[in-house]
Amino acid sequence: MEKLIIGSHVSFNKKDQLLGSVKEAISYKATTFMFYTGAPQNTNRCLIDNNLTNEALKLMKENNIRKEDVIVHAPYIINLANKGEKQEFGIRFLKEEIKRCEQLKMDKLVLHPGSHVGLGESEGLKNIVSALNEVLNDNMNITICLETMAGKGSELGTTFEEIKYIIDHTNLKNKLGVCLDTCHIHDGGYDLNNFDEILKQFDNIIGLNYLKCIHINDSKNLINTHKDRHENVGFGKIGFDALIKIIYHPLLKELPKILETPYISMTDSDKQKVYPPYKFEIAMIKEKKFNPNLIKDIRSYYK
Ligand code: FE
Ligand code: FE
Ligand code: ZN
Repeated sequence: MEKLIIGSHVSFNKKDQLLGSVKEAISYKATTFMFYTGAPQNTNRCLIDNNLTNEALKLMKENNIRKEDVIVHAPYIINLANKGEKQEFGIRFLKEEIKRCEQLKMDKLVLHPGSHVGLGESEGLKNIVSALNEVLNDNMNITICLETMAGKGSELGTTFEEIKYIIDHTNLKNKLGVCLDTCHIHDGGYDLNNFDEILKQFDNIIGLNYLKCIHINDSKNLINTHKDRHENVGFGKIGFDALIKIIYHPLLKELPKILETPYISMTDSDKQKVYPPYKFEIAMIKEKKFNPNLIKDIRSYYK
């Protein structure tokens, strides 16, 4: 069987912690997963229970999920591009998040580089660099993976050049990596129909050795619209064939691919209760065949 490291965003709750996340990933027949150590939009975090972590690591081993492939995502409220107190808060919280990752035995933390919030691109980038220089240290076992962004609002890290600038000016470059998000780069203006060309550019500008993780999302919007609205695989403007080519690209074989596609509601009008699409999307990706009835299949499964 072809090697495929694929999974999705899964939940991490106070009660079951990493063990719950692993179980959810296994229920999707995933070979990896990504989680936030708490709600992505706030800083409420629970104490990590080492017993649950050990049980989770054991279950991962039994199911051939390698911990090197598992990703933690830092909360969005960290904005290192900002200045003053806001930046200080981000630095403090990121340091704590790194400690939590280490306690959970995880080694890859995806981070949105930040938004300049009117300070201007060059000042924002400089702020990110100074913050990273405060956060990174030689003793940490974590790679901070800077995510490529859609360019919504004043987001930085929308071009490979901006990511390159951050890496170049950071002292401990060996603690940095990059997470490529397909929806984000499409929304940021990269044409995913020419993915080989994109990879070539990535290699020339940043270096493929920095690429650590791929977020696989279709996009609700056209190329270069800077909207950042994810769509289920094959149901958006990137399309199934382009995404499959990326997922199975020989140069990306060793990298974890993570779905962050939207949950599905029971009817188009009632969005109250939603269900995860990942078991079905992963199956479709493994078959390499687009399933136009995906949404219908998910609805009848959860009914
Ligand atoms: Fe992200
Ligand atoms: Fe993403
Ligand atoms: Zn996004």
